[in-house]
Amino acid sequence: MILPGATLGVLGGGQLGRMFALAARNLGYRVMVLDPDPASPAGAVADIHLQADYTDAQALARLGAECAAITTEWESVPATTLEELATHCPVRPSAASVAVARDRIIEKTFLRDLGLATAPFFVITQAADLDAAIAGLRMPALLKTATLGYDGKGQIGVTTLDEARAGFAQLGNRHCVLEEKVSLAQELSVLLARASDGETAFYPIGENIHRHGILHTTRVPGQVPAAVSELALGMSRRVAEALDYIGVLAVEFFFTTDGELLINEMAPRPHNSGHYTLDACVTSQFEQQVRALCGLPLGSTRLLSPVTMLNLLGDLWGDSQPDWLRIFSHPEAKLHLYGKREARIGRKMGHINVLSDNADACFELANSLHDTLINKH
Ligand code: AMP
Repeated sequence: MILPGATLGVLGGGQLGRMFALAARNLGYRVMVLDPDPASPAGAVADIHLQADYTDAQALARLGAECAAITTEWESVPATTLEELATHCPVRPSAASVAVARDRIIEKTFLRDLGLATAPFFVITQAADLDAAIAGLRMPALLKTATLGYDGKGQIGVTTLDEARAGFAQLGNRHCVLEEKVSLAQELSVLLARASDGETAFYPIGENIHRHGILHTTRVPGQVPAAVSELALGMSRRVAEALDYIGVLAVEFFFTTDGELLINEMAPRPHNSGHYTLDACVTSQFEQQVRALCGLPLGSTRLLSPVTMLNLLGDLWGDSQPDWLRIFSHPEAKLHLYGKREARIGRKMGHINVLSDNADACFELANSLHDTLINKH
């Protein structure tokens, strides 16, 4: 067990690292963040910010020497970095778990091998693979790069072989999956934490709405049929057990209009759709990650209140900051900003959690607060 006072390492300095660092410091740990960006959101709240590349030998040596345990907020951290650090101290989730989630080809193949449903897909490593894929899938389809795609980035919709060829070239002929675009009734996410002894705690399932491929809201409790929830929890448990996973894991699902439950992807870390836990659960997903990393007992995942989380994207900024008084003036709206200096279209700058004793009221208020921020001028 790693107790308060010890130093915890975080690879990646974005908002997930920031909220992890805040949770860890709140529990009395020291936090060392590795991120080359001098303006990184997590670096700003860490005890120590190592401004170096993820493969920098000196920085890795310091992390390995000073940290009692290390986690990552970013699955694209090089595998060699995780493996090297694991020779010094526990790294959770493990390099092997991160490797599965890092690459859509490995991830989807892993799920298929476990017998867990995904959208039908083909692996594309060269343009010639597209012929069989287009012939074998219902159109429309999505071409997605195997690595480094997120928030709809690295994705192109296609309906014909010619479009698929053009899309593959546009994505730089990188390894891809071509997957069927399924008809969505709902998007859900299961958030769980698994301790080193296999104890697993599930958070209440969130119902997600995406806009332009980016998460917009997570509503909890979601309007999810009980049988679908049960199935989603069972599928997620199988994923966590197959990986012998330690830490917080998010599994994103599609529930189709045909009544099928498919796994879209998983994130080996706290997830945007779990930000509601910061204000609405006994233990936030970030505290839970600290607990799992340190070998502490897991905290309660109990929901204290219905909640809607809504993302605040850079689109809301314009020439000046949004008018935050419009959020502050609602006593049950909780504002979280990540301290990013530059607002860009589609960039996640913060989120709000809106609490109420009624899930519909949370959802409506969150969306209306968003509208008032848009209409600030
Ligand atoms: P991803 O980056 O793969 O999570 O995709 C971002 C969002 O795009 C998802 O949350 C869905 O809203 C949508 N999307 C991605 N893949 C599919 C698919 N195969 N069928 C339908 N919608 C999809």
